[in-house]
Amino acid sequence: MRPIIRGDIPTENAIPITFAHYGKALPHLVRRIGLYCSYCGKRIENSPAIEHICPKSVDPSLELDWNNFLLACKNCNSIKHVHPDNINESKKDYFWPDEDDTFNIFTYEYSGKINVKNSIPPEIKEKAKKTLELTGLNRYDRGDEIPLKRREAWGVATESLSDLKKCETEEMKRQIIRTAVSRGYWSVWMTVFRNENNILKSLIDLFPGTNTKYFSYIYQDNLLSKTENSEKLINLANRFQIPNEQSSFHE
Ligand SMILES: [Zn+2]
Repeated sequence: MRPIIRGDIPTENAIPITFAHYGKALPHLVRRIGLYCSYCGKRIENSPAIEHICPKSVDPSLELDWNNFLLACKNCNSIKHVHPDNINESKKDYFWPDEDDTFNIFTYEYSGKINVKNSIPPEIKEKAKKTLELTGLNRYDRGDEIPLKRREAWGVATESLSDLKKCETEEMKRQIIRTAVSRGYWSVWMTVFRNENNILKSLIDLFPGTNTKYFSYIYQDNLLSKTENSEKLINLANRFQIPNEQSSFHE
């Protein structure tokens, strides 16, 4: 689960926008965090949903609150919505991609399964486990077969790594990033390429809004600064992202 920065409330003429309907926040969210599901990580091809972290049925005052919004695919949105804990417990009982390091608490397996990382302290482990249950990321009874799609992404990422080992060129690296950005499943790519620092940096830089603060260990070598790396590959990202706030979306 990719940790993200949503940023401050978007402004219009330097004034924070008041959303008449939460759907109006969609293009702003897409610009900030990319067209990816905040939970399963897939690139959302159809019907992106504004996900309310605290459900609007539980606290109607947060229905239009920018800081309560994430983007989700239709299935993740509805699975979380109907989970019984969604109304019985509070936000602090779970990890959230806009507040926590939601990458380094899980491990991603080639089978498509996500596990809670063994090395984390027990109290964190329980919270991480509950986060997985709430979001249903390991459920095989979902309409969109997300664990299978994640396994498929693992296969593509593994083949890409194998190609890179045979032919370590800038062109190959760009092709790999292009594939990752267009498919999504950021966490799978981050796992498969865990020993390839330059690829990791590109994945962090080019999936919009990734919270870099949890990945200082990747930038430690200083061989390529974040800015240099971004400039090098930014053109690749542009073709996959929403160019400006005037873009129209159906809600
Ligand atoms: Zn999803």
